[in-house]
Amino acid sequence: MIVVGSGFGGGVAALRLAQAGVRVVVLERGRRWPTGPNATTFPSATDPDRRMLWYRSAAEILGRPVRVDPYLGLVESVVGENMTALCPAGVGGGSLVYQGMSLQPSREVFNTHFPEQLDWDLMNRVHYRRVASMLHLATAPNALINSPNYRAARCFARQVRQAGLPLSKIPMPIDWNFALAELRGEMRPSYTTGEGAMGVNNGGKFSVDVTYIKAAEATGKAAVWTQHNVTEVYRTPRGQWELHVDRLDDTGRVLQKKILTTRSLIMSAGSVNTTKVLVRAGALGHIGELPDELGQGWGTNADRIYNWTDPEADFGPVQGGPVVYGSLNWSDPASAFTVIQASMPPTPASSRSTMLVGYGVSASRGRFTYDASRDEASLHWPATGDSVIQNRYIGPAVRRIVGPRSTLVDTNRTVNSTWHSLGGANMGTVCDLEGRVRGQRGLYVIDGALLPGNCAACNPSMTIAAVAERALDRLVATDVGTTL
Ligand SMILES: Cc1cc2nc3c(=O)[nH]c(=O)nc-3n(C[C@H](O)[C@H](O)[C@H](O)COP(=O)(O)OP(=O)(O)OC[C@H]3O[C@@H](n4cnc5c(N)ncnc54)[C@H](O)[C@@H]3O)c2cc1C
Repeated sequence: MIVVGSGFGGGVAALRLAQAGVRVVVLERGRRWPTGPNATTFPSATDPDRRMLWYRSAAEILGRPVRVDPYLGLVESVVGENMTALCPAGVGGGSLVYQGMSLQPSREVFNTHFPEQLDWDLMNRVHYRRVASMLHLATAPNALINSPNYRAARCFARQVRQAGLPLSKIPMPIDWNFALAELRGEMRPSYTTGEGAMGVNNGGKFSVDVTYIKAAEATGKAAVWTQHNVTEVYRTPRGQWELHVDRLDDTGRVLQKKILTTRSLIMSAGSVNTTKVLVRAGALGHIGELPDELGQGWGTNADRIYNWTDPEADFGPVQGGPVVYGSLNWSDPASAFTVIQASMPPTPASSRSTMLVGYGVSASRGRFTYDASRDEASLHWPATGDSVIQNRYIGPAVRRIVGPRSTLVDTNRTVNSTWHSLGGANMGTVCDLEGRVRGQRGLYVIDGALLPGNCAACNPSMTIAAVAERALDRLVATDVGTTL
């Protein structure tokens, strides 16, 4: 069977199916990004280069024109109406470039925004716990936080407490001993200078490539075919799935065109790319009778990025990261949101400025429709999307945290963007809770596209992986040997 994509959804699917004895081929459009102490695999956050950008991206990142040579880089910038979605690429998907904030929603917020049949208690006991163990989640040790490089984190914590808001440490998929070793000068800094914003070079990050994918490959049943970009999916008259695939060189040049046929197909290309491939296939009649709701119900998790400047602050010449503290404002499930501080790469401004990120629950939804002039599905987002949670909750809380003397730049006002695309093939409408696409035997969606357009005030990766773990438990029990 074939899995398209090797991020959180694809990693879980590949491992659990391989462990069940199923032969799995994972088609991943991007490259491998091996790390280790003193590696230089990932681009520098202060001096970005072609490794940063996926070659088919819009030639901009967050509204700024980017001119780099074409490369199978780490992030694809997908520009839609009123929204730019940043989509990861590479073996491990978003876990390569994500900060790694791994929050699990509370029961109340989860049950308000997800189908209750997912059973939060079971997921809490089994699936979230399994993900936490696979990704070795841990919070930053005080020895690190108390070091000079973590002044910005300490300052954020103080301001949150002064504002009377809740404060917690954020679980991260990081062996913090690597950061402590950096402070001792034993390896080139990656965490402790904020240099890891585009991928952590020195190792110690439990990304999906070195956890789920590595374990899947170790079974001998799963193979990852890198630099294989799926361009089209068809359902054949015999009910099989035919994939048109380009094998790419490092610059995106097509080396070979392949056609692969499989009885069962799991789409794990991420919310945007899974949705785009399926919406186009439906519009062109390559797959008949796809559910009408496909492409709808897409959300941003109400992502917000702020630049916080305090003229009297001393955040220090460098800011350690990736993330230490957050403020989890989850008491009302209808308006739950989170604010965190993330390190800024060293710049002349960084002793007075740092980054704040907000996200939360929102009823706003966008949709993908097929655009014949571009021969692709494109994203439409309402101009006032996420305004309720933003204007009434996230924005005011961030202002309270930074205090009156600070300046806040809400970058989403300049370029509306999200790192947390969710939905498009939502559970409950397009798919069932295990990712089976309605009316399409052998076709599954196991990734962020399955989630209901928001993630209950949390960063999505932990829930995408936990929903995938839950789904795979059931698919292994019921579908392996029949459709899988
Ligand atoms: C800069 C950044 C920071 C983030 N920080 C956090 C964070 O701190 N915490 C958190 O929880 N989340 C964070 N996220 C979001 C998180 O990375 C995503 O929610 C998560 O990775 C989505 O998982 P997924 O399985 O749906 O897809 P992905 O992880 O995106 O994986 C999809 C994979 O499919 C591949 N693919 C796509 N199209 C094709 C195709 N046509 N053919 C073959 N392969 C294809 C892609 O290359 C990719 O590897 C961040 C995202 C970004 C971009």
